[in-house]
Amino acid sequence: MSKLVSGEIAEDFANYYYTSEQKSTAVALGVLVNKDGVKKAGGFIVSAMPDATEDELFILENRLKEAKPISQMLEENMSLLDIAKDITGDIDIQTLKQEEKTPKYECNCSKEKMARGIQTIGKEELQKIIEEDKKAETVCHFCNKKYEFSEEELKSLIN
Ligand SMILES: [Zn+2]
Repeated sequence: MSKLVSGEIAEDFANYYYTSEQKSTAVALGVLVNKDGVKKAGGFIVSAMPDATEDELFILENRLKEAKPISQMLEENMSLLDIAKDITGDIDIQTLKQEEKTPKYECNCSKEKMARGIQTIGKEELQKIIEEDKKAETVCHFCNKKYEFSEEELKSLIN
């Protein structure tokens, strides 16, 4: 007989992703314990890639709501692949083999792109920033990379 225990760590993780990385991320963690201690522990993190569509996110969100608790999946000895299929609803799910590809977050932001973003605030606003702060810092919404612009750089953006 095993007891299902679920902590609030998963919520904290999801909150962390949401607040610090501005990414909507689903996190689930589960631990199965018996009298000898931890029997099984596992979890998953689902994070949308920058090119995910609203429709895809909507479908995934609903799947995650309907999915059984991760602790139950562990209890049923589901494989990682089956868990992934279950929570995404994608039966044709592809796995990346470690030796072939290492998944990582990659962003195609650049200083040039950020500069174009700054320019959209308009010359007057830009002039104000130059006079008041003498520099500007922007943060990419996707990867959180910071870009700094010096007074000279900002001046060149006005022209
Ligand atoms: Zn970026």
